[in-house]
Amino acid sequence: MLNLVLFGPPGAGKGTQSELLIKKYELKHLSTGDILRGEIAAQTELGMKAKQLMDKGMLVGDDVVIGMIRNLLKEHSGAKGFIFDGFPRTNEQARALDELMMEVGSEITQMVALDVPEDELIVRLLARGKDSGRADDSNPEIIKNRIKQYHLKTAPVADYYNNQGKYHTISGIGTVEEIFSRICGQIDAVAK
Ligand code: ADP
Repeated sequence: MLNLVLFGPPGAGKGTQSELLIKKYELKHLSTGDILRGEIAAQTELGMKAKQLMDKGMLVGDDVVIGMIRNLLKEHSGAKGFIFDGFPRTNEQARALDELMMEVGSEITQMVALDVPEDELIVRLLARGKDSGRADDSNPEIIKNRIKQYHLKTAPVADYYNNQGKYHTISGIGTVEEIFSRICGQIDAVAK
C-alpha cells in the first residue's frame, strides 16, 4: 500500500495536490478538514461542536478526529492506499495513526511536507476565503491563529516522522503542475 501523509501549514496546497495524487496513484483521500465541513453541512452534533472551534481557528479534539479516521479506514479497507491531508495534526494523532495502520496490517510510507513562506500563505488563504466563503479563511486574525496553532501543535509532527526516517520536504512554490511533479518524484523515489 502507498500511504502518504501530505503535510504543511494552512494554505500550503495540500487539498489541490491531493486531488491530483488520488487520480494518479488511485488512492483514497482522507481530509479531516473536508470531513468536518461535511459534518457541519449535515448539521450533525459533532459538526456543530466542531464548527465552534474551527471558526476560531482552533483544532478539534484528538479523540474526535482519530475516531473519524478509524471509521473511514475500516470502511475503505480494500483501498490501494490513502492520502492523509490535514491529519495527523498533533503528535497524539500521529501515534494513533501508527496504531491504526498497524491494525490494518500496513504502515505510513512517508510524509511529504510542502514548504511555503508565511506571507504567501496569508495571501492564498485570503484569496480562497473570497471564493469559498469559508469563515476561517476570511478573517486575517483567524488565519493568524490557525498558523499559530500550526506552529504550536502541528509542526512537531514533522519531527515524529523525521525520527522514523519518513520525513521529506519539497518546495510548495511554483505552478500546481510543478509542485505536483516534485511530489510525484518524491513518492516514486521512496516507492522503489
Ligand atoms: P487548512 O489546512 O487549510 O487550515 P483544513 O481544511 O485542513 O484547513 O482544516 C480546517 C479546520 O478544521 C482546522 O483549522 C481545524 O479546526 C479543523 N481540523 C481539521 N483537521 C483537524 C485535525 N486533524 N485535528 C484537529 N482539528 C482539525
